[in-house]
Amino acid sequence: MTFDKNKHREQGHLYNTTQWRKTREFILSQSPFCAICIEMGIDTKATEVDHILPVRLGADFFDTNNLQGLCKKCHAKKSGSERVIKPKYKKIIR
Ligand SMILES: [Zn+2]
Repeated sequence: MTFDKNKHREQGHLYNTTQWRKTREFILSQSPFCAICIEMGIDTKATEVDHILPVRLGADFFDTNNLQGLCKKCHAKKSGSERVIKPKYKKIIR
C-alpha cells in the first residue's frame, strides 16, 4: 500500500467543511454512545466521530457507513493503536 502525502494534506481541511459538520452531527445523532464502550457494556456519550477504516488507507471521508461515534478516550486510544501499527506515519498524524 502506498501512502499519498499530498492526498492526506488535502483531506485535513475537510474537517472544517459544512459537509463534515453535518456528517458528524448525523453520526452522533444516530449513534450517541461510544461504539467501543458499548461493546464492553458501558454507555459513554460519544463526542467524537471516528473513521472506522482510516481515510489514509483509502476510506471515503464522508462515508457514513465508515463512521462511528466514540468517546474522547476511546478515540485517542484507537488513534494511538493505529500509530503503533503504522509508526512511520507518526509525524503526519496529529
Ligand atoms: Zn469509549
